[in-house]
Amino acid sequence: MIRVVVAGALGRMGQRIIEAIRDTGGVTLVGGTELPEHRKCGVEIEFEKDGVKSAVKITGKIEDVLDKSDVVIDFTRPLATMQNLKIAQELGKAVVIGTTGFDERQKKTIEEAGKNIPIVISPNMSIGVNLLFELTAKAARILQDEYDVEIYEAHHRNKVDAPSGTAVRLAEILADELGRNLGETGIYGRKGIVGERSREEIGIHSIRGGDIVGDHTVLFAGMGERVELIHRAHTRDTFARGAVRAAIFVAGKDPGVYSMRDVLGF
Ligand code: NAP
Repeated sequence: MIRVVVAGALGRMGQRIIEAIRDTGGVTLVGGTELPEHRKCGVEIEFEKDGVKSAVKITGKIEDVLDKSDVVIDFTRPLATMQNLKIAQELGKAVVIGTTGFDERQKKTIEEAGKNIPIVISPNMSIGVNLLFELTAKAARILQDEYDVEIYEAHHRNKVDAPSGTAVRLAEILADELGRNLGETGIYGRKGIVGERSREEIGIHSIRGGDIVGDHTVLFAGMGERVELIHRAHTRDTFARGAVRAAIFVAGKDPGVYSMRDVLGF
């Protein structure tokens, strides 16, 4: 049985991940973390699996629960994830990172950590979005510079980072396939007299509102036609199931930084 600690256990994703652990064979929950000031921090929650009930500690200090675990699944905030990663390295634990919004320095630190422990990191753990990544690469390879590329994404009003990590990944894929530098060609929203669109631009646009779980569209607009690749998540359970699948994959793996592509065997 793979023993999992969920970081951000009482967050939107954390709660769905606990449900997914309950519903998946071969994994169990041994602990959760929350911000020390969270009102439920320090309590024990009831976790029932296969008819067996256990009390699982929610703590502000990941060290309290990490020693008896195999894998941490972390859907929190970049700073929290970096702290958790440091401690997981010290204790030699595998980590699944679903958090988004890392800066370049933090991404490098994650790469470095991969020399010591196995890590799965993906801005989107759903099977459908990982298929969208593959289809986007293929479409860009075929359509090349003749088609203007734009990405637009929509998320719920509580999302704190923009553009979404998934949109950033889609932009990176397009830039790679089209031989462009995203730092120079990425255009994040438009306002005012911005002039005509250059051929190289990769437009990235974010919509926020209500309870939208997560929509991503990649647009290839040519003369006389356009192609749109669309993914819409209906429920966070799709990410949660992917995260648990990643935890099963990464437990006991050699050190390295793995993606959902590795997990799903694409
Ligand atoms: P959320 O509801 O705000 O959940 C984050 C949780 O982490 C909250 O409960 C938060 O506590 C807690 N937290 C913050 N700092 C912490 C710390 N230092 N230690 C322990 N817990 C801490 O957000 P969410 O919608 O679940 O999203 C979480 C992250 O996952 C975001 O970066 C989001 O973009 C990403 N995400 C990824 C995927 C994917 O498939 N990879 C899918 C969906 C979301 P407070 O509420 O007290 O601040």
